[in-house]
Amino acid sequence: MRSGKSFYVTTPIFYVNDAPHIGHAYTEVAADVLARWHRQAGDDTWMLTGTDEHGEKILRTATANGVSPKEWADTLVEKSWRPLLETIDVANDDFIRTTEPRHEEAVQTFLQKLYDDGFIYAGEYEGFYCVGCEEYKQESELVDGSGPYEGQKVCAIHSKPVELLQERNYFFRMSEFADRLLALYSERPDFVQPESARNEVTQFVKQGLSDLSISRSSFDWGVKVPWDDSHVVYVWFDALLNYITAIGYGDDSSDKLERLWPGVHIVGKDILRFHAVIWPAMLMAAGLDVPQRVYGHGWLLVGGEKMSKSKLTGIAPTEITDTFGSDAFRYYFMRAIAFGQDGSFSWEDLSARYQSELANGFGNLASRVLAMVTRYFEGSVPAASEYSDADRHVQTVVADAASAADAAIEKLAIHDALAHIWTIVDELNGYITEQQPWVLAKDDAQRDRLATVLYTVTEGLRALAVLLAPVTPVATDKLWTALGVVDSLGALADQPIRDAGRWGQLPAGTVVGRLEALFPRIETTND
Ligand SMILES: [Zn+2]
Repeated sequence: MRSGKSFYVTTPIFYVNDAPHIGHAYTEVAADVLARWHRQAGDDTWMLTGTDEHGEKILRTATANGVSPKEWADTLVEKSWRPLLETIDVANDDFIRTTEPRHEEAVQTFLQKLYDDGFIYAGEYEGFYCVGCEEYKQESELVDGSGPYEGQKVCAIHSKPVELLQERNYFFRMSEFADRLLALYSERPDFVQPESARNEVTQFVKQGLSDLSISRSSFDWGVKVPWDDSHVVYVWFDALLNYITAIGYGDDSSDKLERLWPGVHIVGKDILRFHAVIWPAMLMAAGLDVPQRVYGHGWLLVGGEKMSKSKLTGIAPTEITDTFGSDAFRYYFMRAIAFGQDGSFSWEDLSARYQSELANGFGNLASRVLAMVTRYFEGSVPAASEYSDADRHVQTVVADAASAADAAIEKLAIHDALAHIWTIVDELNGYITEQQPWVLAKDDAQRDRLATVLYTVTEGLRALAVLLAPVTPVATDKLWTALGVVDSLGALADQPIRDAGRWGQLPAGTVVGRLEALFPRIETTND
């Protein structure tokens, strides 16, 4: 079913200088849940992720490891980054690497256009550069070093000394775009979210923008500047362009840019400025639409510290999925952390939510319902007769949850969407306790009532499977198969999610199958 809308969502492209940790996986899952939701709604959906492979930091890491930067990137992409997507069941539509010809050629096309149109000039630049950030730093962004760097100024993020660089570079006339950017932030409050991020970016631009140095000549690992091959393009300028090069910018044979752009960028808040200031200014200069939205999510904190390899708090996603499975990984991070805010990860919380919400709440509900249909109606879903107030209440809860969840997804409030969907789990569990189908089953005179109760809970499960498919695709696929509706209703991935709350879609007479535990009991001591 086509909705006529499009939805293009991106993750940041990740720097191939290290292996992925759960912070990266978190971003990927969020983008994937949004993409799966929109795909299931019939929107023309595209999810892009990929890797950022140029720049001095990669060159230095590769050299230190005795390989070429391309070999280094190839290995990391094949051994770490692509497997990450499988580990957490990300169904991306494309994976772009900035070393691919389709990207490099389109970057040159873009740059040449800006140069021809007078937005790029040659000039001298002197400034403090942090190789860790791949960014020139203002003096206000530096702090006093400690330990081995006592007495030096260091990057506030990396705690390592910055380098004083003086280069003849090409500059992008970013200063010309400050007013248009401020107008954008005020006319479209949704453009940068959440609110705290929007305020920060607005304050930054209000101080005025400098022109941006967009080339380097001291090393050559990058896209060559088309009119001067002694320079390579600044890695951020190159990397940001992936969002349009991947959908066919500069390729006249592709209609994707027209179909899908502008997109929604999910980014960590540390790189918000690049996405909400530099990137829209680049697009404005090129005469292209700015993104639909730039959304900065929060940090994952472990023991109060931001997740990162350099701080030794990095946890590999497989450490979680090997024990709890990919669905639990996806559910936990989307449910436990308000999207946009910082959130703490702990094994105890993960374990507790797995047991109470997934295993006892949702998994048990599914097994019990299918077992009762099997026991009392030989596996054939009975037709409902007359609905009581309690039954109608279930129908209302399902319909309200479905529409509230869709509205939450529109606002990128994934945690709220899950909370709304979970009202169905709680309602169905409470309904079963109240209606006591096992008591009704003992009385032949209550046969119709028993049928209505079991139809109600099975139809409720149908709605739950559809609504949870974007978050827990493995468990809901098993449930869908056990519900026996693949032939009558079609594949789960094809169920129109915005119609999930419409009552009565499950055909009476459907023959249900066995359902293994969706979230099996885990005996674990995490030490
Ligand atoms: Zn830094």
